[in-house]
Amino acid sequence: MKVTEYISNSKDTIFSFEILPPLKGKGIDDLYAAIDPLMEFNPPFVNVTYHREEYQYNEMGNGLLKKVSVRKRPGTVGICAAIMNKYKIDAVPHLICGGFTKEETESALIDLKFLGVDNVLALRGDPIKSEQVFSPAKGGNAYASDLINQMDEMNQGKYLHEETVNNPSNFCIGTAGYPEKHFEAMNMSTDLNYLKMKVEAGADFIVTQMFFDNSKYFSFVEKCKSIGIDVPIIPGLKPITSLRHISFLPKFFHIDFPEALSIELSKCKTNEQVKQVGKEWGINQTKELKEMGAPVIHFYTMGRGESVKNIAKEVF
Ligand code: FAD
Repeated sequence: MKVTEYISNSKDTIFSFEILPPLKGKGIDDLYAAIDPLMEFNPPFVNVTYHREEYQYNEMGNGLLKKVSVRKRPGTVGICAAIMNKYKIDAVPHLICGGFTKEETESALIDLKFLGVDNVLALRGDPIKSEQVFSPAKGGNAYASDLINQMDEMNQGKYLHEETVNNPSNFCIGTAGYPEKHFEAMNMSTDLNYLKMKVEAGADFIVTQMFFDNSKYFSFVEKCKSIGIDVPIIPGLKPITSLRHISFLPKFFHIDFPEALSIELSKCKTNEQVKQVGKEWGINQTKELKEMGAPVIHFYTMGRGESVKNIAKEVF
């Protein structure tokens, strides 16, 4: 079923979360161990992130370097199939522009359609370590809006190198939104205009980057509405669980901690103390978002289902 159908059929805020494919070499049981503790909150769908290959240069012993591709977290499409089969819920794979030609994107979408996947979150992807700025694959999509265009064409039965065929896809398409602005955008208003472009291209719902200040989400929703973006906007929340998160999350995700949270975090000396502050903050954020009628809460687990469970059991 489509994410938008779950939303319109539900009277209350829906619980959902995203998982990372396990590191290369790990088995499916590691993935189930991350999902199992969260199933008691009845998520109707679970997102599965996509991780692009990185490149490294290996010395060949003759003074030359060989460029090799290294994939750390394989298998988003296979993982979706496994989740749907085991838990009988929907899986929402993330599909990115980076590293894919349009033909490869089409093949991935054909596989997803074949498996009965109804939803896809369409993203551009970040620059890889060896790039200063994001660069698309030759013949690939440069922006999420291009990827959404390609998916929308497929939804109309238009495949890349064929005339209209009789079996269009029917993907419900999600896209990313940034309450604190995407880090490359010149300003909030250009970023919002590009978000509107993604919705006009066919995006049916938006999932936000994590934020720790609900007022930023509410203001983002208002700004979106004011420029005619009328699709559901799903807030993304991340429980803070370690001392490392205090510097890592703002740096990596280009977000700020509000003053009150930063004061509490700066008093923490151990991971346990941070976990407690993160839990209380997450509970309050979630409660308020629920009260204000957020359609879904999308939790970023980043491999740590337990911290999401600690919040969910107080609120869902
Ligand atoms: P876009 O919407 O393409 O925007 C990228 C930048 O370009 C923005 O600054 C925007 O303002 C600007 N822009 C957009 N369209 C145009 C245009 N037509 N012309 C000029 N400028 C334009 N990354 C992964 O690799 N795997 C994942 O699974 C993943 N999941 C994510 C889930 C969520 C909910 C979020 C919020 C992010 C996720 N990301 C993931 C990270 C995401 O790929 C990065 O934030 C990336 O830098 C931007 O992706 P986007 O889809 O928002 O890009």
